[in-house]
Amino acid sequence: MLSAPLLEELGVAHAFGTRDDVEPPGLLRPRQVHGAVVVEAHACRAQPVPEADAVVSAEAGISIGVVTADCLPILLASERAGAVAAVHAGWRGLAAGVVEAGVRALRACAAGEAVTAVVGPHVGPCCYEVDAPVLDALATRHDALLEACLSRPRPQHAQLDLGALALAVLARTGVERRAALPAACTSCDSRRFHSYRRDGARAGRLVHRIAAG
Ligand SMILES: [Zn+2]
Repeated sequence: MLSAPLLEELGVAHAFGTRDDVEPPGLLRPRQVHGAVVVEAHACRAQPVPEADAVVSAEAGISIGVVTADCLPILLASERAGAVAAVHAGWRGLAAGVVEAGVRALRACAAGEAVTAVVGPHVGPCCYEVDAPVLDALATRHDALLEACLSRPRPQHAQLDLGALALAVLARTGVERRAALPAACTSCDSRRFHSYRRDGARAGRLVHRIAAG
């Protein structure tokens, strides 16, 4: 498991998963579909589990989470840790606005408190070449932010830094404190991480969680 200094400072119980971590019993998480819907934690107790890509909670001691295998996990908390959120965002989610939706839902529970957000392990720009349809979809919502997150090693090829784009979106959304875990490319680091890009359909999932205090 990996923890984030910014969230530790707030005293928030949280963990970004690595490949040896098992899902804790009772973790409340939605059925992820690469969209922008946010659900409240209690809704994830229903059967069938609702489809969403972000979950928010103001229930103390209840762990909420998302799973990933290259996409971005983002854990968020309010200043006094009374409200938390977990977001799953790949390029589709970023294009659909899931990051902004997750921040909005957290702020609705957080009564004007400052928000802290940390981006966890995800596929790095080293391993994430994207094509025109992906760039077009992202440009529709994030045009002004996108170019600074791209590198173009040769014509017709673009490597996208999803984490940098998420941090830029968080900044634009007014999130007061933001960070990404360093040196955590899921595709490069097979010892620590599952990766869909690297392992295909047999890839496992990393489990990320956070709980309000
Ligand atoms: Zn990489």
